[in-house]
Amino acid sequence: MKVLVINCGSSSLKYQILDMTNESLLCKGLVERIGMDGSVITHEKIGMDKVKTEVPMKDHKDAIEQVLAAVQDKDHGVVKSMDEIGAVGHRVVHAGEKFAKSVLITDEVVKALEECVDLAPLHNPPNLLGISACQQLMPNTPMVGVFDTAFHQTMPPESYIYAIPYEYYQKHGIRRYGFHGTSHKYVAERASKMLNVNLDDLKLITCHLGNGASVSAIKRGKCIDTSMGFTPLEGLVMGTRSGDIDPAIVTYIREKENLPQGKANEILNKKSGVLGISGVSSDFRDLEEAVADGNERAALALKVFAHKVRFYIGAYIAEMNGVDAIVFTAGVGENDVSMREIICNNLGNLGIKLDPVKNKVRGKETIISADDGRVKILLIPTNEELMIARDTYDIVTGVVK
Ligand code: AMP
Repeated sequence: MKVLVINCGSSSLKYQILDMTNESLLCKGLVERIGMDGSVITHEKIGMDKVKTEVPMKDHKDAIEQVLAAVQDKDHGVVKSMDEIGAVGHRVVHAGEKFAKSVLITDEVVKALEECVDLAPLHNPPNLLGISACQQLMPNTPMVGVFDTAFHQTMPPESYIYAIPYEYYQKHGIRRYGFHGTSHKYVAERASKMLNVNLDDLKLITCHLGNGASVSAIKRGKCIDTSMGFTPLEGLVMGTRSGDIDPAIVTYIREKENLPQGKANEILNKKSGVLGISGVSSDFRDLEEAVADGNERAALALKVFAHKVRFYIGAYIAEMNGVDAIVFTAGVGENDVSMREIICNNLGNLGIKLDPVKNKVRGKETIISADDGRVKILLIPTNEELMIARDTYDIVTGVVK
């Protein structure tokens, strides 16, 4: 069966088609500037050059129409007709407490996701637009929703309840939800395969370190804690997001800087993180270049970032009473050799020892811990699209109910 994976943002859309008989990627693409001037689709049939086409797309339905045309194109397409697509898997950011796993999309599911819009006002509306556009254009194809929050629904209340009046949890659903769940789940499953140990027998700490970053504690295959919270702003220092700060800072900056409504939130989401500390960039490659040129604030930004990752690793070792393996994934986790070195430095007493030679690797599934380290350290490129396709395939073929 071929599965189409759709990940809709507010003005962009990513897609892939995978052949689930061998989980191979057939094509992938990106639509940008939906609803704006200069909308463009970039399509790549695997093994061929990318094709970039500018075509007006006023909304997500137009965008999906262009995707369907691209995947059926006689030169660059991978299917003759959409009847070859057995199912569509949709990435949906927020399912609140409603879904702890991926589900077949029905009218009730759409209604439930609409009720989560308040929790993810920037993400859920475009996700829902993508679902509705596909339903209109492919009315007979089953659709599955795969949620960023679902994997974290196994957290115990002591991990997800904030120490604020309980009525806010009851009335407004204010609690830790966690994000990047599809990635944490994917790398946890891969780690179990690489180590040849059942997930039920593993304590894992998975570090998804990209532009957005989060750490999860996964015990016996279940997430028991994660660093992102009610929104993806909490936890680690990120490219442009502050991560954990004293909440009193928000009102304090608002008063001192005389900020208009909503500005503090924007500063914490878009102008903070390693960009905010360094004043240089949110990209770790730029920061490392700046450090090489003697920029002290760039060096400080990297140190603060590493400090927070180590902080969560330590906390999660305590929560799980040990750890068998630590996984690094996403842009920084997969590629940044020196950042992995700084994070794992001087943790020998916890059994965590990086092999400096094995660590000199990028974007490849491999073990990078020293042979005499008790805790395995793994590098696993994440693959959220494959995870979405797998869940979609399993649900529509009845492997998972
Ligand atoms: P992601 O959000 O997972 O796509 O990660 C994107 C981030 O990964 C970029 O902003 C960079 O900071 C980081 N990154 C990608 N490649 C490298 C590299 N070779 N060295 C250091 N950081 C990298």
